[in-house]
Amino acid sequence: MNGIEDGVALISGASSGIGRATAKRFAADGSSVVVADIDADGGEETVSQIEGEGGEATFVETDVTDEDDVATAVETAVDTYGGLDFAFNNAGIEGEQVSFADQGNENWERVLDINLGGVFYAMREEIPVMLESGGGAIVNTASIAGILGFPNLSPYVASKHGVVGLTRSAAVEFSADGLRVNAVLPGVIDTPMVQRSSEEDPDSMEQTIAAIPADRLGEPEEIAAAVVWLCSDDASYVTGQPLTVDGGYSVQ
Ligand code: NAD
Repeated sequence: MNGIEDGVALISGASSGIGRATAKRFAADGSSVVVADIDADGGEETVSQIEGEGGEATFVETDVTDEDDVATAVETAVDTYGGLDFAFNNAGIEGEQVSFADQGNENWERVLDINLGGVFYAMREEIPVMLESGGGAIVNTASIAGILGFPNLSPYVASKHGVVGLTRSAAVEFSADGLRVNAVLPGVIDTPMVQRSSEEDPDSMEQTIAAIPADRLGEPEEIAAAVVWLCSDDASYVTGQPLTVDGGYSVQ
């Protein structure tokens, strides 16, 4: 018993990759899950995988940049499952990978709006609902790009540094109210996001793996385990932390 059983979790970006693996892990550990994503087919597939394993989940089509959609996702957790205990604000995009001077305004605005705005809008809706029931736990997906620089990814890197800042601010503001807020910082994880860039440039994947001390990509389930731990009672005194899960990438 670590508090995850019988909880209610809202997970964005849960139609794929890290979000889907985390939705499945929350459900396997006993939480009811609201699967929120812009991709309806993937979201329904996540729900059906959870139900197939005996878990409880509902899909809500959600664009994390749309405040009304985000409010609807939070309301769905309350109306369907009676409250909101955990939120994993995880939806994100890599954006265009081009040099700094070639980054267009459109890419800048889109990456910042989804990766950083999406986390801000979500927390603004989630926090009051959690406080009403005495607290909860939020995890936001940043990245090792939230503490390190990477070439050709300046909007992504800026957005993920911003997620770390939002996380720390909310953690300090609500620590005395029973609400913990942490960030998970994945390294290079084997999801469709990474598979897309490796298809574009297969050589770059070999170089990337060579730079990872663990000598392999991470699995989405390894991020899910960290997120569920951060939300559990086992992490009851952990808040405001950027937790890297990266096979040693960021510490060499
Ligand atoms: P993914 O592409 O497999 O999944 C991302 C999900 O986000 C998709 O289901 C997509 O539909 C959803 N999404 C995109 N825009 C959305 C929007 N506007 N509203 C709602 N949903 C939207 O990628 P992933 O690797 O699972 O990435 C999940 C998160 O992890 C992202 O925030 C990403 O930046 C972060 N991350 C990934 C890695 C990695 O190596 N895979 C590393 C560090 C951080």
